[in-house]
Amino acid sequence: MTGLLPVTLPPLPGELLSSWISRHADFYGVTPLTMLRHGLPEATSLGPIDLSLTKAQANRIAVMFGASPKLVRSLSFADAPKAAHRFISKGPMQRCACCTHSGADLLPVLRSELQGWRITCPHCGEPYQDKTTSDGDRTLSPYRAAARRGEALLDNHAERRVETWLPPLEIARLLLMRRIPWPPPRDCDFWRYRLLGAIVPDFDDLLTKETAFPFSPKHPILPLHIRPALLAGVAIIDRAGPPMLKMLQGHMMGENKNRFVMATDHLVTPALEWGPPQQFQLI
Ligand SMILES: [Zn+2]
Repeated sequence: MTGLLPVTLPPLPGELLSSWISRHADFYGVTPLTMLRHGLPEATSLGPIDLSLTKAQANRIAVMFGASPKLVRSLSFADAPKAAHRFISKGPMQRCACCTHSGADLLPVLRSELQGWRITCPHCGEPYQDKTTSDGDRTLSPYRAAARRGEALLDNHAERRVETWLPPLEIARLLLMRRIPWPPPRDCDFWRYRLLGAIVPDFDDLLTKETAFPFSPKHPILPLHIRPALLAGVAIIDRAGPPMLKMLQGHMMGENKNRFVMATDHLVTPALEWGPPQQFQLI
C-alpha cells in the first residue's frame, strides 16, 4: 500500500533525498529501503534514488510525504546536467565543522557533502574538511580567490545549468588529462603531469609529493587539499578565454590530444575566427 505517511518530518536545508527518507525510516523503526518501498514498491535499493530519480518516482514519493514533486526533486540530483554526475560521490566525503549536527545518532546527509566541486560549505561559507592532510592549503593559498570563483562557476553549472562561454564541469574534467612536459622529466614519471599543471604550476609541485594519482577525467573528484587547484584552473581559463584552451592543445600529443581537440574545438574555433584579441584604448 502506498499513501501519505501519518507523520512527516520537514527536510533540513540542503538535505539529500536518501537522507530525508532514512530519517523517516529511523522515526518509524523500519529500514530505509522499506521506507522507500512505501512509496515505490518496486525499488530494490536506496542508492540510485539521489542521482537517477525519474519524474514518476518524484511524484509518488511526493504523495508519500505530502510534499510537492518539485521539492522532492530539489533534494536529489535529478536535475543536474550529465557533466555533473562524475563529480557527485556515492556518500558524504566532506563535512562542515560549523553545520554538523553533532550528537544525533543518525547524521543527516546534505547534498553539498557529495559535491566534488565544493571547497566551502554553501550554508555558512566555512571551508570544508575531509580526511586528507592540509599540506596543499599553504601551497595553493595564492589561488584561493580564483578557487572560490571556480567553485561558483562549477556550482552554477551543476545546480543551475549556467554556462559562460565554457561548460565549467567539462573543462574541469579535461584539465585532469595527461600532458607532455617539456623538457622531459628526469624521473620519467609522466603520470604526474596533467594539463592543469600548465595553468597552475604549483599543481605539479603538489603531485611530486604523491606516490600515485588515481584521478582522471573519469574520476575527477580530488581530495579537498588539492581541489582548489582544479577550481582555480577553471576560473583562470574562464577569464583568459578560448586562446588558453588552444595553448593547452600544444601540451599534448597523439590520441590524447585528439580527444582534447574534439572536446574543445567548438569552444576554440569561433574565437580564432574573430582574430587576435582587440586592444581597447582609453580615449
Ligand atoms: Zn557550514
